[in-house]
Amino acid sequence: MKADRDVIVIGAGAAGLTAAQYAARANLNILLLEELAPGGQCLIIDNLENYPGFPDPIPGFELSQKFEEQAVRFGADIQISSVHSVVKKNGLFRVDTDNGPLTSPTVILATGAKHKKLGIPGEEEFSGRGVSYCATCDGPFFKGKRMLVAGGGDAACDEAMFLAKLTDKVVMVHRRDRFRAQKALAERTLRNPNITVHWNTQAKVIRGSGKVEEVVLRNNEKDETYSEKVAAVFVFIGSVPQTQAAKELEVELDEGGYVVTNQRMETSVPGFYAVGDVRSTPFRQLVVAAGEGAIAAHAASQFIDELKGEAYG
Ligand code: NAP
Repeated sequence: MKADRDVIVIGAGAAGLTAAQYAARANLNILLLEELAPGGQCLIIDNLENYPGFPDPIPGFELSQKFEEQAVRFGADIQISSVHSVVKKNGLFRVDTDNGPLTSPTVILATGAKHKKLGIPGEEEFSGRGVSYCATCDGPFFKGKRMLVAGGGDAACDEAMFLAKLTDKVVMVHRRDRFRAQKALAERTLRNPNITVHWNTQAKVIRGSGKVEEVVLRNNEKDETYSEKVAAVFVFIGSVPQTQAAKELEVELDEGGYVVTNQRMETSVPGFYAVGDVRSTPFRQLVVAAGEGAIAAHAASQFIDELKGEAYG
């Protein structure tokens, strides 16, 4: 049995790039497929202050370039191409891409997750005209203006803190009475004089003429509806795992749709691994994603060793 590659990694964020680096160092013939540009979510993070080894904050863009350089230096082949599907036939995966089908005995899924939407009137209409899912990308357009942030997790707090450097008028709305974010980050957000938090509150309608002008809010506890004049609405309410490529494999997912693995990153399909934000995990962090990439590459290498001399090679 011959294959085009030993390992195909799908998605070039921190998890995929680390898997590629480790697979290349293990002397595997590895192909990393990315539909846009290498870097993943890390690309849009303003400054990372918790990535180990970098005591001074490092821009996400710079860190992702380092991930890529390191993977390429060890021989990872990175190609820009979308993956349409993955199927398993006669012991090999067939990965259908923009450039045609490719085969491999192992595949590492590192496709990450995309932002969730509020699903309220005005969100689609004003997307790109005041409604945004990336503070570092769009925040500077609204410098000095009143901006609203929806959400209460790490992303919402991080991004609100970033926006609070651009304006002294950040309004955060969170549907509960406390943040989901990590304690230190939540406390820093609450201490920031440029951020006002409206608890038990949800955005209901986004209005304006041509651009965002106001948001209708609902305080669930007081059963009150009111509106706030804002120039922008930033939405950070979690993410949706990108598992479309694995649909035909019928790999096991958790109730949130994330891929279930064991501690070796093995999924319910032998030879198929999942790492990073697409994986069912209690803590989605860059450093965790990178670690998972290393584990999956190691497990894939052992899987191939077991096949070699038997059916593969
Ligand atoms: P998250 O932790 O899932 O938080 C989502 C937040 O949005 C929650 O507060 C949730 O409210 C709220 N929410 C969900 N659906 C909503 C809706 N329809 N309407 C209004 N509010 C809604 O998502 P995240 O903040 O994007 O973080 C995702 C992962 O990335 C986490 O594991 C996080 O630790 C990690 N991350 C880490 C950092 C960092 O360490 N600096 C930065 C960014 C992300 P409830 O609390 O009521 O459920």
